Amino acid sequence: MINCVYSFFYVNFFNGDAMLSENKAHEVWEQVLHQLKIEAGDTVFDNWLSYLNLNGCRNGEITISVKSKFYKDWIEPRYGNRLKTLWVSLSKDVKSVSLIVDDNLINKNVKKIIKQDDSILSFSSPLDANYTFEKFIVGPPNNFVAAAAERIADTDEVTFNPLVIYGGVGLGKTHLMHAIAWRIRENSPQRKVVYLSAEKFMYQFVRALREQDTMGFKEQFRSADVLMIDDVQFIAGKNSTQEEFFHTFNALVDQSKQIIVSSDRSPADLEGIEERLRSRLGWGIVAEIHQTTYELRLGILQSKMDDLKNCDIPKNVLEFLAQKITSNIRELEGALKRLVAHSQLVGRPVSLESTYDVLHDLIRANNRKVTIEEIQKKVAEHFSIRLSDMSSARRARAVARPRQIAMYLSKQLTSRSLPEIGRTFGGRDHTTVMHAVSRIESLIVEDSSIADDLELLKRNLDN
Ligand code: ADP
Ligand code: MG
Repeated sequence: MINCVYSFFYVNFFNGDAMLSENKAHEVWEQVLHQLKIEAGDTVFDNWLSYLNLNGCRNGEITISVKSKFYKDWIEPRYGNRLKTLWVSLSKDVKSVSLIVDDNLINKNVKKIIKQDDSILSFSSPLDANYTFEKFIVGPPNNFVAAAAERIADTDEVTFNPLVIYGGVGLGKTHLMHAIAWRIRENSPQRKVVYLSAEKFMYQFVRALREQDTMGFKEQFRSADVLMIDDVQFIAGKNSTQEEFFHTFNALVDQSKQIIVSSDRSPADLEGIEERLRSRLGWGIVAEIHQTTYELRLGILQSKMDDLKNCDIPKNVLEFLAQKITSNIRELEGALKRLVAHSQLVGRPVSLESTYDVLHDLIRANNRKVTIEEIQKKVAEHFSIRLSDMSSARRARAVARPRQIAMYLSKQLTSRSLPEIGRTFGGRDHTTVMHAVSRIESLIVEDSSIADDLELLKRNLDN
């Protein structure tokens, strides 16, 4: 009897509202619960939050009920605010959310309406709480890619697909991807965001093959709203993983789901990636994170200092670091951490002198000005060939000569050994490098245009 009365009351309650229909309210409620389950974890959810019941909704005023004061007193201080913000963020028609005790519920078996579809999140890798947009310092080397990332994170519409973020190691690719994921979770908790490394993608795929559950695997990924794969260069040459990724990619793009991919080089330079996948990667926006500038490095150091409480590092030391540690941001951060740890250990403030002592190995490594990668890039640009041809097996003169020039410059301008240089040029033998060097040396004498090219390239690389 009580049940009957209750449901009558329930139906009427909803009919009164024109703005937020019953169906809509239930839909939103499912999403709220779904999100709460993720945030609170299974145990808390099952023991407490799953007893929450959507009681009514009139003129945008939501009433959530629990069966006793005991539950209300536990839930309200812990999840009351979150409950409200989730409702409001998911439906603009919601004006207020209140939690009440409804005695009727004691006899009613509250239905757990949460869908069991969050298993996809087990595929996701955890996100680093520090990798947010707020902590990402923007400057000329990364402002384009940061703007693209923020744009994607702030709108549910898929305007460009995929977003490819590429750049050298330690320059912020992973940081930006996590930032996108955090922002989407905050703005649109109902969207399913899946973030994982290409390595983990492969691992999951191989496991699905082994357990003969590739259907499950496919469905999991294809139900994502936003799929992010970090370090996609990892699947180069891994053909069946690549094939699977390609199909997942197409399926998601067809449903207008967002795809975001990072890579340590541009799609055009990804060797061992099938042409069709390479060309798909170029469909949307391909954004490069460039090498850092002095100003960006200093900005990042200053912002890290703001985070480090009780620690004072003089301005001239920060400037010194920004000047000397140019390789990438990860190393720069590492240097700062080492300094701070050292000063706390010995109980002395950081000075320019102690900095030099503590970091001499890093500083020396960074003094090596030009890198082979930069040389390869500049030479490829100069001769309008692909960067990948620096390491490809192609022997056509149009690519072989620039490659020899790049090897020659690597020998001249860096302190790397011949075998090291050979390895960077597609795993070539050191004798090949030796041959290239002597070939270019003699060409400089015979051919003045080669001498001019070299002059120009060297000047370029010095800047
Ligand atoms: P990648 O994935 O490109 O190798 P990461 O995203 O892991 O690089 O970045 C390396 C480190 O540098 C991280 O700790 C990250 O927080 C930091 N970092 C990179 N770019 C920035 C930036 N623009 N502002 C602040 N920190 C940054
Ligand atoms: Mg990374």
